[in-house]
Amino acid sequence: MVTRAESSIGALVAPLVLGVLSAGCGGGSSGGGGGAAPPTTTTLPQLSAVSPTQGPPGTRVTITGTGFAASAQGNAVFFGAAQATTIFASSATAIECEVPPGATAGTVSLSVSTAAGASNALSFSVSAQGGGPTIASLSPTAGPVGTTVTIAGTGFDPNPAANTVTFNGTPTTVGSASATQLTVPVPSGATSGVVVVTLSGGSSNGVAFTVTQSGGSGQGASGSRALDYLSAVPFTNLLIEVDSVQGAAPDAAALDRLRARIAERCNKPGGVTLLVDDTVASPGFSNWTVSQIQAFEQQHRDHYPSGNTAVLYVLYLDNGSDGDSGNSRVLGLSYSGTSFCLFKDSVQSASTLTISGPVIERAVLVHELGHNLGLVNNGVPMQTPHQDTANGAHDANTGCVMHFSVETSLVSQLLGTVPDQFDAACIADLQAAGGK
Ligand SMILES: [Zn+2]
Repeated sequence: MVTRAESSIGALVAPLVLGVLSAGCGGGSSGGGGGAAPPTTTTLPQLSAVSPTQGPPGTRVTITGTGFAASAQGNAVFFGAAQATTIFASSATAIECEVPPGATAGTVSLSVSTAAGASNALSFSVSAQGGGPTIASLSPTAGPVGTTVTIAGTGFDPNPAANTVTFNGTPTTVGSASATQLTVPVPSGATSGVVVVTLSGGSSNGVAFTVTQSGGSGQGASGSRALDYLSAVPFTNLLIEVDSVQGAAPDAAALDRLRARIAERCNKPGGVTLLVDDTVASPGFSNWTVSQIQAFEQQHRDHYPSGNTAVLYVLYLDNGSDGDSGNSRVLGLSYSGTSFCLFKDSVQSASTLTISGPVIERAVLVHELGHNLGLVNNGVPMQTPHQDTANGAHDANTGCVMHFSVETSLVSQLLGTVPDQFDAACIADLQAAGGK
């Protein structure tokens, strides 16, 4: 018995003739040694080159040489023991075919048999079964330029530089790599489209990634996405993603209040989902700057508006803000169109015997939400004048959650309870802009 792999070891076996060509299909078929068929006078096929010289099953290759059968059926092409099942074209001097699914990974002998017999062999490198690298998932699946994306899959090269990753054709630099995971930043200039990993042996499947707009934190200025939240078009659903720094954990009841206020005012027939997500070690900033907050968001945020789902990103931070001065501390900050933060330590330090931390916390959450919903006069127009212009995008009414004191340590000076409701003037603004 002589397998195809053995018979293709060059000129030593050149005289070997296949008994019946059609019997040569499949792996390990035997050559008909011992004169199973009479040698013909036709010239044996002779291979001169193959291009490319490597690739996973499914790769289209062109073999050049002489003595091929003009009809595709007259040529049997072997990658090791596996016979090509798809031959696109053939002539006396060229065959175009596909590396068969059954080809064994590694270097194999490529040969062609015709009725006249078997050719010489060329080396061909078959990449790992399954077509080289495969992407299983991306996380996140959307984000602005600079977002760190984790690519999970198989067949990656542990050497970062050996993997080429493109976002809709724009290459990026691989940060870390293992056989099953790559981390990459969304490259400058990238546009929405598929992410593909390419190794020397072939390219992966493509998985869709949405590049969101840059500018500020990548999500526009506070209030700029108000209509995305208020209206049911284009987003029927809303996801609240909450990340926190260790030691600044959210109060569950306060988050429930935030979600309830959203459900009251935002047209989201598909629902409002609360995702309490990562808890991250503190980077140790004593007074967070906006750019530090934005960088922290880019590092840890997993969800951006996409498909039918709008996203509100809520960040719980420790220590204080660079906007603090003396005893006056900032409790929260809406710093982009789709995100705000809360300074948990400052919220706690603002609490008094009569006003608890959780009561302040829920008010601050609703207040910052209000800024993201375009209040006051910060993305949605006022239906009646109610802005406290001396204090920015805030409500003149001390009974409204949008009063400026709610997001400062002055909150404890509010008489009675801390409001966590929008007043009638704010509600009218939200309704006029598509809200409820
Ligand atoms: Zn405010």
